[in-house]
Amino acid sequence: MLRTHTCGELMEKDIGREVELCGWVDTVRDHGGLLFIDLRDRYGKTQLVASGAGWVVGHSFKPEDYVRVKGKVQRRPKGTENPNLLTGQIEVAIEFPLLDSTTCKPLPFEVVKSRETNEDLRLKYRFLDLRNPAVQKNLFARHKAYQAIRRALDERHFIEVETPILTKSTPEGARDYLVPSRLNQGEFYALPQSPQLFKQLLMVSGFDRYFQIAKCFRDEDLRADRQPEFTQLDMEMSFITEEDVFTVVEKVLEAIFKEVLNQDLKTPFRRLSYQEAINQYGTDKPDLRFDLAVQCLNEIAADSEFKVFKDVVSKTDGAVVGICVPQGGSASRKDIDTLTDFVKNEGALGLAYFKVVNGALDSPISKFFTPNVQGRFIQKFAAADGDLILLIADELKKAIKIAGALRLYAAKRENLVDGKRFDFNWVTDFPLFQWNEEEKHWESEHHPFTSPNMEDWVKYKKTGELGKIRSSAYDLVLNGSEIGSGSIRIHRRSVQQEVFEAIGLGKEEIERRFGFLLRAFEFGAPPHGGIALGVDRLLTILLGLDSIREVIAFPKNQKAVCPMTEAPSPVAAKQLKELGIKIA
Ligand code: ASP
Repeated sequence: MLRTHTCGELMEKDIGREVELCGWVDTVRDHGGLLFIDLRDRYGKTQLVASGAGWVVGHSFKPEDYVRVKGKVQRRPKGTENPNLLTGQIEVAIEFPLLDSTTCKPLPFEVVKSRETNEDLRLKYRFLDLRNPAVQKNLFARHKAYQAIRRALDERHFIEVETPILTKSTPEGARDYLVPSRLNQGEFYALPQSPQLFKQLLMVSGFDRYFQIAKCFRDEDLRADRQPEFTQLDMEMSFITEEDVFTVVEKVLEAIFKEVLNQDLKTPFRRLSYQEAINQYGTDKPDLRFDLAVQCLNEIAADSEFKVFKDVVSKTDGAVVGICVPQGGSASRKDIDTLTDFVKNEGALGLAYFKVVNGALDSPISKFFTPNVQGRFIQKFAAADGDLILLIADELKKAIKIAGALRLYAAKRENLVDGKRFDFNWVTDFPLFQWNEEEKHWESEHHPFTSPNMEDWVKYKKTGELGKIRSSAYDLVLNGSEIGSGSIRIHRRSVQQEVFEAIGLGKEEIERRFGFLLRAFEFGAPPHGGIALGVDRLLTILLGLDSIREVIAFPKNQKAVCPMTEAPSPVAAKQLKELGIKIA
């Protein structure tokens, strides 16, 4: 090694030792002929002292120069110790000249402040950004999480298998990234949107328990929490029910939390059905760090004299729904206007509000509600004096969705969200299909390999109602973000064929795209199921960060571009010719 120690290692017990250190100049201070340099590497910082002729600030040492030094460990003079550093009791008096160095050009940004820099500049100089200990720490956390995952799953007999990257389209609802084939001109591989079909085939092969920390590729429009390539902890198991999947995932998450945060997670996680989630929280990914459940008030609203409410609830699919904000009653006229603007932006016609005062409702419209009706409103929400009731009247699904959004918005405004809390819940029994209004056909809510709820499937065979079939799909939700999704799969060829047909695929297309899967199901396929967790998103939340780019070593920006390598970029005409491709 070119060093005897790291920069995080030397302590009082090393005083008197001759050492050699390698690292980057963090800071240099000139105390009149005496230079103090903090030398940094991934392990920490050690103070160097350079005295005597020859040493020059800005020549011998500039921030972010790489240097290799030789010197002797000594005690720091009394009063100059740094109790915040493990190495804070000592310093290294270094010999002239440096053993080695490479200099650093003028910096595009100060390394310790890289997180405050414009993102494209950070990404262009990602190698410098990644020198920032605050940024490095995320990759170390990621590494620890991987080790915890591998240990937890290995102990439970899971086998880690790599599946192909150059493959055939694996539909997960996004566009494919295509790779042209040179040897088979005019033909393309697709990068996997997930290892879904391969992991199912591994079950047919009898591996029983598979996992992979898998790169997945989806050509989607990017948002803060999306990247064109991202990582899933992908798992599949045979001979199981969904409860078995939940248990394994809970164990893995316990291990990750212990390893990365030294925190004990409370398991089992709460389970709620898709319908419960929608009805109570207006979303299939409820944030349950706070309550503010959405209530439906149709019966009570029907007994009011308020025309808007009466009209809405007299329609078959109309509803009055709302939330009660604890101690929200101090809201000013301006606060109410802000809340009203918010719901209007979400598509509502307006917002009705009531302050709870002396056990009654106080509002410009309260005269339309008898004391009895007011009492029933208050009872429904178990509201107390000082609370604020907010109501929306609209078509049921729309009203619930808006109330769900209002619930999140109000909770943030009122500081009801405990930012330190991690709240996991399982959402189960998703619908199998959803109607695509634009394209006028049914499509899979998850992916077409998800098993229907078999009771519902039998009923569907009689009624033909696709919209009423529940599936055995489930999501894992953390603090209101979906971080995992999975299902018990179809393992019977006939059911798989029928599901493909239900989403409008013709026989030929089924054979062309999924013939290999159907064939595998003809050779004794076992019942199986699994899940994939979004590793980037999970880590982002766990580390309290706001973008998944913070936990990815070399991410792309919001335009799917890598400002450092400048990918994607044009290619040579010769390459295109070999591929038989012309740019239109
Ligand atoms: N392949 C699915 C996905 O990427 C996960 C699963 O069903 O296991 O969402």
